[in-house]
Amino acid sequence: MSIIIKSDRELEIMRHAGKATASVLKVLASSVQPGIKTSELDEIASAESLKWGGKPSFKGYQGFPANVCVSINNEIVHGIPGPAVINEGDIVSLDFGLEIEGFQGDTAVTVAAGNVKKTALDLIETTRGALESGIKAARNGKRVGDISSAIQKYVESRGYAVVREYTGHGIGRSMHEDPQVPNFGTTGTGPLLKKGMTMALEPMVTTGDWRTRLGNDRWVVYTADGSLAAHFEHTIAITEGEAEVLTLA
Ligand code: MG
Repeated sequence: MSIIIKSDRELEIMRHAGKATASVLKVLASSVQPGIKTSELDEIASAESLKWGGKPSFKGYQGFPANVCVSINNEIVHGIPGPAVINEGDIVSLDFGLEIEGFQGDTAVTVAAGNVKKTALDLIETTRGALESGIKAARNGKRVGDISSAIQKYVESRGYAVVREYTGHGIGRSMHEDPQVPNFGTTGTGPLLKKGMTMALEPMVTTGDWRTRLGNDRWVVYTADGSLAAHFEHTIAITEGEAEVLTLA
């Protein structure tokens, strides 16, 4: 594979796909509350996608059985919605992808269910900030390693760890295009960033160690040490100036 530069017309469609994806995620995020089943969130994802005329991208992707990934507390990513009930004090990571007119949007957020511990709130804010610092570093003429390094430095300066085994990625007609965008790395290394590149940046941050463990369903990814995890993601486009965030509701 190689990196695909998008035309202005393609970016226009991706802007629309991004807005739709973010709008569905916004409804999902506001639906998280103690007592709701994760399967109910999946139903909401399906219904909201229909309103936009979009197709949830994760369903059927490598056999994933649901419309949205719902990962709770020590689950980092790829949690399958089901009978699990969200409890007061949980933090809930929602990752959602939508295909519209042949293009993909991909975005994630971690939200609190009711009152959560201060550490959990701080983890959420740190992960949000890590994504912001990655976006700031994503500029024409810089390199992927500049994004990776910005994310890693932001997270580690606050005493948390970035997950290494799962990364951000290029995105366009396919959900996963080149290049990979790790959440750790060295400035000035990796592929060159050019205007028209579109990427999903997605820091996954833990309160403990960065190592992960795959669940028995072969999907859900846990922190190996049982610590809490948060996940934020935006689909962005490289421009001549600051990167444009495409997944805004
Ligand atoms: Mg992604």
